[in-house]
Amino acid sequence: MAQILDGKAHADRMLSVVKQAVEARTGAGQRPPCLAVVLVGEDPASQVYVRGKVKACAETGVRSLEHRLAPASTQEQVDALIDRLNADPSVDGILVQLPLPRGLDSKRALHRIAPAKDVDGFHPMNQGLLLGGLPGLRPCTPSAVMNMLKAYGVPMKGIRAVVLGRSEIVGKPMALMLLEEHATVTIAHSRTVDLPSVCREADLLVAAVGRPGFIEGSWIKPGAVVVDVGINRVEDPALAARIFEHEPKKLETLKNKGSVLCGDVRFGEAMEVAGAVTPVPGGVGPLTIAGLMMNTLQACEGRD
Ligand code: NAP
Repeated sequence: MAQILDGKAHADRMLSVVKQAVEARTGAGQRPPCLAVVLVGEDPASQVYVRGKVKACAETGVRSLEHRLAPASTQEQVDALIDRLNADPSVDGILVQLPLPRGLDSKRALHRIAPAKDVDGFHPMNQGLLLGGLPGLRPCTPSAVMNMLKAYGVPMKGIRAVVLGRSEIVGKPMALMLLEEHATVTIAHSRTVDLPSVCREADLLVAAVGRPGFIEGSWIKPGAVVVDVGINRVEDPALAARIFEHEPKKLETLKNKGSVLCGDVRFGEAMEVAGAVTPVPGGVGPLTIAGLMMNTLQACEGRD
C-alpha cells in the first residue's frame, strides 16, 4: 500500500510558520501583512474559494480586505480598483479571483497587478523570474507542492518527473520548479502521444489535467510518487462505477450526496501501485491556500 502524502497536515504546518512570522512582526511593532482579494460577480465556487482565503488570513494573523465588484462591472472598473490597490502602501498582496465574468479579460487584470504585490505569481515579470531561477513570487499551487515534497524527503535530483498538464497556473511552473531541483522533466498534454507509456516512466508524476479518474493504476510506475492536483466533481454514476472500482467510500458518498469530489488519478488503483500518493480532497487543495499565505508574507517582507 502506498503512503498517503497528507497535504492538509502539511498545509497546517505551513500556516503555523506564517502565523509565527506574523506574530514576530507584530511583536516587533511592525504591521501584519495585508492581502486584498478582488471578487467580481457572484460565481458560487469563487465565493467559496474567497471565503477559504479570508479564513486562512484570519487564522494566520494576516489582514484581509475583500473588494467585491458587481457582475456587470466593466474592465475599466476592474483596472481602477487594481490601480488603487497597487498604489495603497498598506496592501502587500492583491489577488483577483478567477474566473472573471464573461466579457472581462483575465490576463489584462492579472498583468495590471504590480509584480511586487502579485501573490498568485501570474504576472509575466514573476513568470520570467521563475524561468530565470531568480527569487520572486511563484504560483501558489506548485510552490506549496514543492514545499511538501521537500518536507516528506521525496528525492528530486536526477529522477524522471512527468507533469501532466501545461497550464500557466500549475503545469508549466511545476515543471520549472522540478527542473530547478535537477529532475529530468517531461511535460505532457492533450497532444502527447501514448500518454500511459510517458506516465509509466515517471518516478514522480504530477497530474494537473482536470479530468476525473483520468490516470489509471496501470499508468503508474511501481513505487512512484503521485501528486494529484486535479479537483473534479463527479455526479454520473456510470463514470463513478468505472473510476471508483477500488474506492467503495466514494461510491457511497455519491449515493448519499449526489456528487463526490475526486482527483485526476484513480486513487484506489494508485494506492496499490505507487510509493506515495496525495488524496483528493485533503491533498493539494489545502496546500494552495497555505502557499498563498506564504506568498503574502513574502510580499510583505519584500516591501519593508
Ligand atoms: P487547465 O488550464 O485546464 O489545464 C489542463 C491541462 O491538462 C492542459 O495543459 C491540457 O492540455 C491537459 N489535458 C486536458 N485534457 C487532456 C488529455 N485528455 N490528455 C492529456 N492532457 C490533457 O487546468 P489547470 O488550471 O492547470 O488545472 C488542472 C486541474 O487542477 C483542475 O482540476 C483544477 O481544478 C485543478 N487545480 C487544483 C488546484 C488546487 O488547489 N488543488 C489549483 C489549481 C488547479 P492542452 O494544454 O494540450 O490543452
